[in-house]
Amino acid sequence: MKDIHKSEKLHGVCYEIRGPVMQQAYRMEEEGHRILKLNIGNPAPFGFDAPDEIIQDVIHNLSHAQGYVESKGLFAARKAIMQESQTLGIEGVEIDDIYLGNGVSELISMATQALLNNGDELLLPMPNYPLWMAATNLAGANPVLYRCDEESDWLPDIEDIKSKITPHTRGIVVINPNNPTGAIYPRELLEDIVEVARSHKLVIFADEIYSKILYDDVEFTPMAKLASDVLCLSFNGLSKSYRLAGFRSGWMIVSGAKHRAKGFIEGMDMLASMRLCGNVPAMFAIQTALGGYQSINDLVLPGGRLRQQRDLAHSMLNDIPGVSCVKPSGAIYLFPRLNLDHHKIENDEQLVLEFLRQEKILLVQGSAFHWDAPDHLRIVFLPRADDLSHAITRLGYFLERYSR
Ligand code: PLP
Repeated sequence: MKDIHKSEKLHGVCYEIRGPVMQQAYRMEEEGHRILKLNIGNPAPFGFDAPDEIIQDVIHNLSHAQGYVESKGLFAARKAIMQESQTLGIEGVEIDDIYLGNGVSELISMATQALLNNGDELLLPMPNYPLWMAATNLAGANPVLYRCDEESDWLPDIEDIKSKITPHTRGIVVINPNNPTGAIYPRELLEDIVEVARSHKLVIFADEIYSKILYDDVEFTPMAKLASDVLCLSFNGLSKSYRLAGFRSGWMIVSGAKHRAKGFIEGMDMLASMRLCGNVPAMFAIQTALGGYQSINDLVLPGGRLRQQRDLAHSMLNDIPGVSCVKPSGAIYLFPRLNLDHHKIENDEQLVLEFLRQEKILLVQGSAFHWDAPDHLRIVFLPRADDLSHAITRLGYFLERYSR
């Protein structure tokens, strides 16, 4: 009998955050081990509940959420997003420019499928949140990585971006605040990126899902605010700032040079209609989330739980010999570097697997984010301080043994 193979379209498509290491963790759980998971940015299991008013609103509206709605999503939710974009200073956003989807993930796939042809190139940061790489490959295009510089607090290297542009480049992805580095980009740098996009007629994909998770008084600047004459797609949602990852509720805003993009927009409309509409009950959460009390601020301000956990994890990591970590200014991740002169590491996935087997703690290897050396790990700092402290202490002991 002939074997059944996966489609050739899936060549190069992978999502290592839920890859072999996570499968190993599941097997160990089945064997009865308790695994401490610092691998996925999923706030709810760590006691970060969503604001109750949102949950109550969704419950209240459940009976009105039984049918399909317009492919782009519920009007009231899109109106609330439109109002927020006006407040953020993004010009010219109309209700039809807003698409709701099953998380930002679905909309990233939709946008890349609608834009990219085989052989096109999309500029992605390195390191990057791997969904962008997977979606680019699935769309038949070639991801081209631009470097974010650890020595400069992980800011994108603008000269590297410029040097990677070819006649095939169609767009640039900017993840700000960044996953996995936690970097927040200053306005001047974003302006430089917009200038590059303007002069090469690129589409900007601004993944801003962590835009409200900011520490140390840093300011977040929405890309679209600076790009009124460049086609810009901004992505955001309820998964992180409102701790509602399970609702699968995100949105995409199209702004800027829309007049140049009629065909592309038609393509996105078609793909949106092909999947009928997103998950309707979760759309009822959006208006209340955006208009209600922004409880995320209580978590990130001094004394807030997320802020304390970030500070603790950051300082404990830097205390491990041969480990250094840039302090994240946003989001919920740390991306520490293991100095290869000190730690003899050839394969970071093997290291993470071994740490999992020995210590029952799950991290993600830097190479899952397409970092080009086996010398980084990503750590989610959502667990409570005692769990974080346990995990990082064990990591220190483990590295001492492992590199010998
Ligand atoms: N973009 C980034 C940078 C992320 O970190 C994530 C999730 O971790 C997503 C997009 C996907 O988010 P959603 O839950 O809205 O699909």
